[in-house]
Amino acid sequence: MSPAREDATDRDDASRGEPFAAAFREACARGVLELAPCAACGQLPFPPGPACRHCGGELGAPVELPGEGTVVAVTVNHRAPDADFAGGQPYAIVLVDIDPPPRMAARGTRPVRLLCNLVDPRTGALRAEAAIGQRVRVTFARRRGVVLLQVTEAQAGQRS
Ligand SMILES: [Zn+2]
Repeated sequence: MSPAREDATDRDDASRGEPFAAAFREACARGVLELAPCAACGQLPFPPGPACRHCGGELGAPVELPGEGTVVAVTVNHRAPDADFAGGQPYAIVLVDIDPPPRMAARGTRPVRLLCNLVDPRTGALRAEAAIGQRVRVTFARRRGVVLLQVTEAQAGQRS
């Protein structure tokens, strides 16, 4: 792998340069989960690209997602990938199916699958305990000027 692997800042700068991810990242910086739906098939392609990754259709104006979802897979990492994570292990890495807006779900739009870390809702610390089927909500954190998308336990009755 290139030397950039050792420097999280370089890696993040490279991905931030993708033009189609720019709008998504800008929304995340505002604390909003926003994706462009496909005008043809109605799905919410992720990660953002120049066209729908499901059917090749054109993408419409971004829509805001409610920001809640369900854990569908869990793995627990016992090794810190870089200095930022040192001392935080073990921690859970979760695959989450994020709910589409209800009106879109009713028309057949599928959840958006994200890979992210699970954090404590109060302290923001990485959590190791996660369960398939667990309800979570999206939260945003800033690390070295880069906005990270994370999830935390959804509290009963809480809306994001
Ligand atoms: Zn499509």
